[in-house]
Amino acid sequence: MLFYVAKGCPNCKGIISDERLAKELPCKKCLPEKERPSLSKFSDICEILHSQNSLKDLKPFCEVEKKVELFKKVFKNILNIFPSSLQISWAKRFFWENLLLSLLPLEQEKQPSVF
Ligand SMILES: [Zn+2]
Repeated sequence: MLFYVAKGCPNCKGIISDERLAKELPCKKCLPEKERPSLSKFSDICEILHSQNSLKDLKPFCEVEKKVELFKKVFKNILNIFPSSLQISWAKRFFWENLLLSLLPLEQEKQPSVF
């Protein structure tokens, strides 16, 4: 560890070490060292934060990740192949746009762009 970043935690905006940021983990307050998943998969981190009731600013990212995981499962069940990375990135973009549109007030609502 070389330094700490003030307001650097992507979840709580608290202080975080550069080491945890490089490993794409939230700060120790949000995700204590003993709770750290061995795989450090983002969906595992989301589940732990949700179970501890400490999911804050990462919540929209976790919601999109959950929908993308569901998309992969449905895609695999229907077509019997895994989606390509391009198809996964399109799905992520689609879910992000829908999430952002749901946050807009009704008078500013618009149709999502295709690209
Ligand atoms: Zn934090």
